[in-house]
Amino acid sequence: MKSLRYGRWRRLAAGWPAVGLALATACVAGALLSCGREQPEIREEPAKAADVPTVRIRLPVDNPVEITTTRGYRLSVDGEVVSRSNAHLGETTVRRSGGRWRFNSMEVPGGRAVLETDLGGFIRVNGVLYRGTVHLVPEGGDGFYVVNHLDIESYLAGVLPRELYANWHIEAYRAQAIAARTYALYHMSNRGSAHEFDLGATQAWQVYGGFSAENERAWKAVRSTQGMVVAHGPEGREQIFQAHYSAACGGRVNPVEVLYSAPQGTPMTGGQECNDCRGSSRYRWDPVRISKKEMHAALLGTYRSTERLDGISEVRITSQTDWGRPLHIEVADARGESIRMRAEDLRLSLLRSRSPAARRLYSMNVRIRDLGNEIEFTDGRGFGHGVGLCQWGTQGKAEDGWQAEEIVRFYYRGAKIFRAY
Ligand SMILES: [Zn+2]
Repeated sequence: MKSLRYGRWRRLAAGWPAVGLALATACVAGALLSCGREQPEIREEPAKAADVPTVRIRLPVDNPVEITTTRGYRLSVDGEVVSRSNAHLGETTVRRSGGRWRFNSMEVPGGRAVLETDLGGFIRVNGVLYRGTVHLVPEGGDGFYVVNHLDIESYLAGVLPRELYANWHIEAYRAQAIAARTYALYHMSNRGSAHEFDLGATQAWQVYGGFSAENERAWKAVRSTQGMVVAHGPEGREQIFQAHYSAACGGRVNPVEVLYSAPQGTPMTGGQECNDCRGSSRYRWDPVRISKKEMHAALLGTYRSTERLDGISEVRITSQTDWGRPLHIEVADARGESIRMRAEDLRLSLLRSRSPAARRLYSMNVRIRDLGNEIEFTDGRGFGHGVGLCQWGTQGKAEDGWQAEEIVRFYYRGAKIFRAY
């Protein structure tokens, strides 16, 4: 489940967006927010090359949020320091209303707020520790969102443990690092400085758990693949691409058309046989029945165009892969009104609607049977969209002795591995 909003392809390592922050150093208002809590044990920040790009991750938190730091800090609003101390920032509730920030009892009018902590320190947001800096970005007068700025290598160390199991093979971690780095850099080069963040931190992008999620294996994989990405294209003109991956393809890698229309000859045309993901409990799964009523309600919640339908009487597959996996479907009511959609979008809207049965519809690698009031999804295979790298397949291949570079080249056919920095 990846965002599909940015389909353009860019030159490999085309100018990274400038996301650095120039902070005014004047106007020190003192340690308004400091208190005397003990600092947790701190691991030092890993050494990082000067040219490692900074990524901006929107955190899944909402007004109000709780923040602290583990070392001295500096808090600024619109570039003016409003509070700083050599001691750490104590428990602080941040709220915003009427165009004003409230940091506990301290009120500050203004726009963007930035919290920085001293070298070796971390910022805790709603209980999760993060490296780098935290930006509080106003959304109107009464809302805001929280964006973590940090170097992309440290970011990846907080992604891998959330995407893979802790006991998985180091080569699986390394392959995932290359794919996840490419995916992140792709979004960074498409977003640019006109936007406040490059990626979210949830399953819709790549799951990111901050410093709190990091482990040794993730760091080993990140360090040993530093800067490595996959790129594709004619010799000398290779470009990075949106390197999708999912949990388990279920036996055959899907084409990117499952998700969106893509240029011909992408490295994600799919079709590779992959039974290395058979270790997944979702490699094969039991039939799932969902009522047409529930399906209609889910679609109404996602697509306005489904208002045209006064219910669902039929679900037809209108296009499929060479190996019989639905790509597009048509949903029709009893009067013959119909809408066409990607099969994957039906699954996503069912998931969004929190339909209990839909949580067992692990993929759209299915056959569809009409049972009257219900649709039955049978012969279910795999978990997720099945495009690009198959995570369970990666683990299977790593256990069979494959190197990360071979695994990546298998799933992204025709792609080459480069160092982006
Ligand atoms: Zn697979």
